[in-house]
Amino acid sequence: MHVVMVSSEVAPYSKSGGMGDVVGALSAALVKAGVAVTTVSPRYGSVDDEGLVDTDVVVRARLGTTEQEATLRERVVDGVRHLFVEHGIFADRQGLYGDQNGSFGDNHLRFALLQRAALEAARNLVDDPAPVFHLHDWQAAGLPAYLDHFYRPLGFFRDSPTVLTLHNPMHQGRLPHRFFDDLDLPAHWFSPAGFEWYGDLGLLKCGILHADQLTTVSPGFAWEITRPEGGFGLDALFRGRFADLTGILNGIDTEVWDPTDDPHLPAPFSADDLAGKRLCKSALQDELGLVRDPEAPLMGSVGRLDPQKGTELLLESIPWILDQGAQVAVLGSAAAAHRRFEAELRGLAARFPGRLSVTVGFSEGLAHRIEAGADLFAMPSLFEPCGLNQLYSQRYGTLPIVRRTGGLADSVEEGRTGYTFDAPTGYAFRGAVHRALAQHGTPAQAAIRDRAMRLEVGWSTVVGRYVEVFERAIEARRAG
Ligand code: ADP
Repeated sequence: MHVVMVSSEVAPYSKSGGMGDVVGALSAALVKAGVAVTTVSPRYGSVDDEGLVDTDVVVRARLGTTEQEATLRERVVDGVRHLFVEHGIFADRQGLYGDQNGSFGDNHLRFALLQRAALEAARNLVDDPAPVFHLHDWQAAGLPAYLDHFYRPLGFFRDSPTVLTLHNPMHQGRLPHRFFDDLDLPAHWFSPAGFEWYGDLGLLKCGILHADQLTTVSPGFAWEITRPEGGFGLDALFRGRFADLTGILNGIDTEVWDPTDDPHLPAPFSADDLAGKRLCKSALQDELGLVRDPEAPLMGSVGRLDPQKGTELLLESIPWILDQGAQVAVLGSAAAAHRRFEAELRGLAARFPGRLSVTVGFSEGLAHRIEAGADLFAMPSLFEPCGLNQLYSQRYGTLPIVRRTGGLADSVEEGRTGYTFDAPTGYAFRGAVHRALAQHGTPAQAAIRDRAMRLEVGWSTVVGRYVEVFERAIEARRAG
């Protein structure tokens, strides 16, 4: 089996959130399990040139009104062949999908180029004539249309199945109808059986209909998206494909997130020896200008500042949490539309010096140090397909306080491996925080911490479930 991963993010080369982590780690885990993997992703300006080797593949595609040429460069790491699409449309931009002015207006063209390049890569550089195309989110979801239009009529990839993984179906690549003309596809693809979605162009929608198999990143979320209240308007489509939809809880990269051997930390620690965690806490308090107090409960938060993540609930609750004698450390950044969260958090930090620290930006190192140095971790998400930070937190002995939704509900158990709440309100969140703080320093909480740190969260146990889905997709394709 050869899997071609088509993704707008592959960690460590590009990452804006969980999808990049998942594609990077899943690829490596598949290779370890004996599956050949080629990833295809854009070479953004931020992707280092070092170690990249030219291939002789030139990708030609009509984008909008012009013919464009891209090249492919490659790098093999841990047996995974990473291909990068080189074109100014990726390299000459600050940001993956947008900048301080909002989303780029040509994202549909940029990711059409990614999909065309992935198909050319598979045709020219992959030995297997029938690789599995594993597509990630709307940026790759149109590939079945290109496969059907440009390749299958010529005899290529007849037995190649497509598997679409939904990391966050809130983002659907839904654009005005006229953008369809830029995609270089015949008009019949703009129909209810193709890209048409209530008169608009629906890039993700097309993939949901046409991929041979669908997966999403937790069993709970797989069910939620089939309900009107959780399906982002796509619930009827998900219900229609429920037999082909599998929820697979993400694993984490246990080498990158390993408290016994983490280059970002001042001291290592483990479930058997927590002395290093205490050092991490005091070092974090120093680093962030918090009062150095080993007894004060320290709550961390890392992630996008976004309504999805429950940032409103956190904001409204911080003064109360501080009032309970706890400290709070926030690391995050907001997209242009939600910049106000950054300003509001900074405003709060100015009111509570030494007790609240707010770092606006993206810092892998600080994310690790918060996971290690904090006692508790806040994830009051309104919805959460999987969520990774709660898994990192558990492994680092930092008990997650999560809303019981999607993958958070699948990975955190109240009073056993963290704390949970149901209602999407600050009041309910503070109730869970209250339970966590009431147990601070007690043997009961030590037992929860110990259990959380020993959970099996690596990719090696998850990878077999993806292989099963790939096999189902191959069979479905063969059966025609
Ligand atoms: P999502 O993909 O919805 O943003 P996830 O919890 O699945 O959320 O994954 C987010 C990933 O991005 C995690 O690895 C998290 O640590 C990382 N991350 C998010 N924001 C930041 C930040 N400001 N600094 C460092 N890492 C971040």
